Amino acid sequence: MNSLAARLFAAFLAIILVVVALVGFTLLVLLRNNPLVERQALIGLHTVALEATRTGQIAPGDSPDAAAAALRAIAAEYDVRALVATPAGQVRLDSAEAGAPELNFRPFRTARADPVLPNSLVGTVRDNRGRLWLFVARPLGRDHLLVVAEPRPRLAVVVFFVENLLVPLLKAAGVATLVAVLLAVLISRSIARPLHTMAAVAQSVARGRYDQPAPVAGPDEVRLLGQSINSMARQVQAAQQAERDFLANVSHELKTPLTSIQGFAQAMLDGAVDSAEGVRRSANIIFGEADRMRRLVESLLDLARLEAGLRALTLQPLDLRALLTVAADGVSLRARETGVALNVQLPPALPPITGDGDRLAQVLTNLLDNALKHTPAGGAVTLSAAVAPGAVEVAVADTGSGIPPEDLSRIFERFYQVDKSRPRSGGLGLGLAISRDIVEAHGGTLRAESQVGAGSRFTVRLPTVQPGDTTVARKR
Ligand code: ADP
Repeated sequence: MNSLAARLFAAFLAIILVVVALVGFTLLVLLRNNPLVERQALIGLHTVALEATRTGQIAPGDSPDAAAAALRAIAAEYDVRALVATPAGQVRLDSAEAGAPELNFRPFRTARADPVLPNSLVGTVRDNRGRLWLFVARPLGRDHLLVVAEPRPRLAVVVFFVENLLVPLLKAAGVATLVAVLLAVLISRSIARPLHTMAAVAQSVARGRYDQPAPVAGPDEVRLLGQSINSMARQVQAAQQAERDFLANVSHELKTPLTSIQGFAQAMLDGAVDSAEGVRRSANIIFGEADRMRRLVESLLDLARLEAGLRALTLQPLDLRALLTVAADGVSLRARETGVALNVQLPPALPPITGDGDRLAQVLTNLLDNALKHTPAGGAVTLSAAVAPGAVEVAVADTGSGIPPEDLSRIFERFYQVDKSRPRSGGLGLGLAISRDIVEAHGGTLRAESQVGAGSRFTVRLPTVQPGDTTVARKR
């Protein structure tokens, strides 16, 4: 009963039953208000009366006894009540035994001439017990009428319905049911077939196989489901690939310093480093590599926490201008040493923002560090801020090497470094990934523009505090 076909069939069947019941009920009501059924009975009575007078079964000249016998014969033969009455309605002879309910036609008040039954009066009369009779009266000689009557059938409408209409109605319902079975099977197939295929696709995605796409066919809703499954499969595949790349990168980044540490420690153990100067140099290298590993692990922890949303930002109103000045001061010495001009262009006042000061300082230091790292002596790094509608935009621009367009879209990926072959500058390829996570956790954006040979520009856009707004920073 749970299959689509069974449900559709049940629905169709319910509709068929309701429609048949409605049609039947409507026909019954129509019949009740239609004199058709009564007419059938009247025509029957008329035929009996006509037959009896025409064949001379009863004739005007009959003696009372002969007439009474004729009436009884007619009554028995046609299952009716037969009477002889005067035009004034007085009953002279009656086929019924004494004690039967009396009929009183006087003076044929309700009788009327009928255009279809010529020469007859038709009508209804109530007997002395209150029951209604149908009758047809025909002249019998000049002074009398032959009256043929029968009780008005109470269930005539129902009987007529059952005898004439029920069977065709049931046949129609039967045909409709067959059509319903056929339709239910066809419709359910057209819906269920792509669904079955999609279920198979979803299962193979769950098993890590992505080669079979879900069919995008059938009704709109089913097509949409197919498209969604395909898009989900692509995303799952991309996420798994990213996870594999990430693991490979982490292992590689940890292995390089470890090898170095192990090598120098081994050399010291083996006595290959004999001079005090040699020991100092080796220890220095070991210290440096261990420090690199520590930074890597800290960065990874940072990323993991940001990603898991566990790191609740310590949000407080911030003086952004002061924050930017401190960040610039922090790298000014390095700028002087490397011969790069550091320009700070801040408007006298910036709108207040809410944020985590330490985290935002980390972002700015990272951007300024990168800019200095990639700008040769004689170049310039500019830190600027501007007010935009509902936000503050902080930009770090440099006149350095720039980033090729094919790398620009990837520099925010974890471990992505533009030129891996360059001698290590201490970078891990995690700085921009962490920076973007922090900015986005503040409800802002971090974007990069660059031109090879001309320089790069990184823009941090942070939403400003709106009056009465308590959800400026999005807690992740
Ligand atoms: P890294 O620790 O290697 O600096 P980042 O995530 O901070 O890692 O940067 C990713 C890559 O983006 C870097 O390897 C570098 O090649 C490139 N990059 C970042 N900032 C700049 C810049 N201002 N100019 C040129 N290249 C940049």
